[in-house]
Amino acid sequence: MKSFPAIKKNDMVKIISGIYKGKIAKVLFVDKKANTVLLEGTNRKKKHIRPNQQNPKGGIIEIEAPLAVSKVMFVCPKCQKTSRSLKRKKIKSGYSVRVCRRCGEIVDKVWGKNLWRQDYRNVTKK
Ligand SMILES: [Zn+2]
Repeated sequence: MKSFPAIKKNDMVKIISGIYKGKIAKVLFVDKKANTVLLEGTNRKKKHIRPNQQNPKGGIIEIEAPLAVSKVMFVCPKCQKTSRSLKRKKIKSGYSVRVCRRCGEIVDKVWGKNLWRQDYRNVTKK
């Protein structure tokens, strides 16, 4: 079964192949359809552009090129180790969080509602 490593925007990932191998970068955008991620400050490519409103002169700009999701690995913010996939843990019907396979810590930070905070405590006790 082909599984998407559940990488989300603002996650830190490590690039495991290509010229940026070993570099850790923040995810700017995830394209689930194309299975690519856009990383901050990496995989820059020069692009020739025609003059437009944003660039009245045109010329060459550097843009971040998307990288195949298979070329990056998630970096756990807690243990700083990489893992290919994350476990999903259901904390309440309809809600699930991502859990690091190495240290077992919850890596999602979606604690906007009291409900989440409550559940977080319950999960970490076990
Ligand atoms: Zn971890």
